[in-house]
Amino acid sequence: MKILVINAGSSSLKYQLMDSVSHDVLAKGLCERIGIDGRLTHKVPAKDAKYEFNIAMPTHSEAIQSVLDALVSPEHGVIADVKEIDAVGHRVVHGGEAFAQSVLITDDVMKAIEDCIPLAPLHNPANITGIRACQKVMGNVPMVAVFDTAFHQTMPEKAYLYALPYEYYENDKVRRYGFHGTSHRYVSARAAAMLGRDAKELKIITCHLGNGSSVSAVDCGKSVDTSMGFTPLAGLPMGTRSGDLDAGILEYLMTKYDMDIKEMLNILNKKSGVLGISGVSSDFRDLEDAAKEGNHRAELALESFQYNVKKLIGAYAAAMGGVDAIVFTAGVGENDMGTRMAVASGLEFMGVKMDAQANSTRGKEAVISASDSKVKVLLIPTDEELMIATDTAEIVGSL
Ligand code: AMP
Repeated sequence: MKILVINAGSSSLKYQLMDSVSHDVLAKGLCERIGIDGRLTHKVPAKDAKYEFNIAMPTHSEAIQSVLDALVSPEHGVIADVKEIDAVGHRVVHGGEAFAQSVLITDDVMKAIEDCIPLAPLHNPANITGIRACQKVMGNVPMVAVFDTAFHQTMPEKAYLYALPYEYYENDKVRRYGFHGTSHRYVSARAAAMLGRDAKELKIITCHLGNGSSVSAVDCGKSVDTSMGFTPLAGLPMGTRSGDLDAGILEYLMTKYDMDIKEMLNILNKKSGVLGISGVSSDFRDLEDAAKEGNHRAELALESFQYNVKKLIGAYAAAMGGVDAIVFTAGVGENDMGTRMAVASGLEFMGVKMDAQANSTRGKEAVISASDSKVKVLLIPTDEELMIATDTAEIVGSL
């Protein structure tokens, strides 16, 4: 099947046209500046070709139309007719407690995604706009929603409940949801395949370390805990997000500097994390360069990040009563051998033994632990688009 994967943001829209059987990416690209002017970057991997166009995109509908035009264009297209697209898979950030897996989009599903807007006020409206634009432009092509939160719906109550008055959960649905679920699901399944084992007999800790980062405990193929929470602000320090912190700090800083909650949240989301500690950059490459030149705060930012990942691995091994494999993925996890080594070193007591030579690789699947390591350590590039295409093909194929 040919599946169009859509990831719609408020002013941007990423797409990939994939063959769900061969897993080939036929074309992919990005619409930017939707609602402002409009720019399309279209890539055809088989030709190693990249095209850029300025196209008016007052709304997401024109953006989708420009994607379809590019896909069927005689010069840079990859299909002869839009009818060759069998289905569309949409990334949707928040499915709340309503969705524990991907679903065919119906009117009821759209209503339920709308009901989740208060939980993800920045992301779900953009995802909904993307779905509606596709429905408008593509008519009756079947569409599937794949949620960032769905994989974590298997967490037990003790893991997802905050120690707040219970009515905030009952009435307001305040709980840990977790994010990056499609990535954690993909890499944990790939880890089982790489080890030639059934996921149902494995305890895996998946470390999605990128600009946004989260760690998950995956027991018997199911997420049983994860570090992001009610929002993606929780857990690890990230590129610019603070991660977990003492809520009392908010009151202290807001009073002292006469800040309102919007200003405070802007600091926590945009000015904290490794950028906040280092004062240098949110990008780990810049931090490593600065640390090499002797910048103490850049070194501290890296150390703090690595220390917090390590602590979560310990916590999740304890939560699951052991661990068979640790997986590194996403921009930092796939590329930054120094961070992988720093996280894994010191975990020898729990059976982790790295292979420095095997670890000196990037961006491709590899076992990076020593052959006699009790706990296998794996590098697995994430592929959320493939997961979305696979779910979409499965659901649409069974209609
Ligand atoms: P992601 O959010 O998964 O796209 O990850 C993006 C982040 O990955 C960037 O902000 C960098 O911090 C990090 N990254 C990408 N390439 C490298 C690299 N070669 N070494 C260290 N960090 C990298």
